[in-house]
Amino acid sequence: MEPIIELTHVSKTFHAQNGEVEALRDISLSIEKGDIFGIIGLSGAGKSTLVRCLNLLEKPTDGEVVVNGNSLMSLSNKQLRKERQRIGMIFQHFNLLMQRTVLDNICFPLEIAGVKKSEARKRALELLEVVDLSEKAKAYPAQLSGGQKQRVAIAGVMAMRPQCIVLDEPTAMLDPNGRKEVLEAVHQLNRQENVTVVLITHYMEEVIDADRVVVMDDGHVVMEGTPKEIFSQVETLKKYRLDVPQVTLLAHELKQSGVDIPDGILTTEELVNALCQ
Ligand code: ADP
Repeated sequence: MEPIIELTHVSKTFHAQNGEVEALRDISLSIEKGDIFGIIGLSGAGKSTLVRCLNLLEKPTDGEVVVNGNSLMSLSNKQLRKERQRIGMIFQHFNLLMQRTVLDNICFPLEIAGVKKSEARKRALELLEVVDLSEKAKAYPAQLSGGQKQRVAIAGVMAMRPQCIVLDEPTAMLDPNGRKEVLEAVHQLNRQENVTVVLITHYMEEVIDADRVVVMDDGHVVMEGTPKEIFSQVETLKKYRLDVPQVTLLAHELKQSGVDIPDGILTTEELVNALCQ
């Protein structure tokens, strides 16, 4: 495996009016190409600050950020702008142009970049298919559900073929159905376009299919591993006041009452299988 992003000893201190805030404390981590990398933690843990450091939207106070082997701190502004284009950012508020159709929203960044209209349209239609919205190409954002709007926003960011997309709580404003649709679209883009995904969420269920997960608390990375490794440690997660997926919690409680099942059960199917055995 090859890392796309590496952070070494990254710290970030904000100098606010009422004193200093250490938002990130000595963080070292590596994100592999093609992975889905989940970041979980309570509000204020430092997740947004961390992902803003990945493309120097926020400049670390200390440490190094290396993307594709280039240390970002040593790049000129022009080189940095170029590197930034390789990392697309998506937030909880869907950034869409309300006067443009879905198709034209996705074409927009390509037009700005001077891509031929027919090429832009081709790419946009291709992305609409991946995020399962082909039938909405001519609709306007106001005619879409929240989950559909967010999928259009994600397709728009994907138009420029970033190597990595960073999603900062992309499902926070959505109902369960919308959350599911957005998550499926993200996984589909990861598979079909091989884009690396960094996903911040406070819904634990959303990272059970990730390749790696880190847990942040008070500016530190306090846990790191596969979802199975992380969710095997129910008591530690509780210590950090994080919810555990319902099925995992149920399995943990069954185990505590003497039922012989393994740690780190993540799905109903796994639980049923374990119980049947
Ligand atoms: P999370 O995304 O996990 O909710 P954040 O990265 O937004 O956490 O914030 C981490 C800490 O840094 C919080 O205490 C927050 O108040 C503080 N913080 C974030 N941005 C700023 C800023 N621009 N100025 C001062 N403090 C900030």
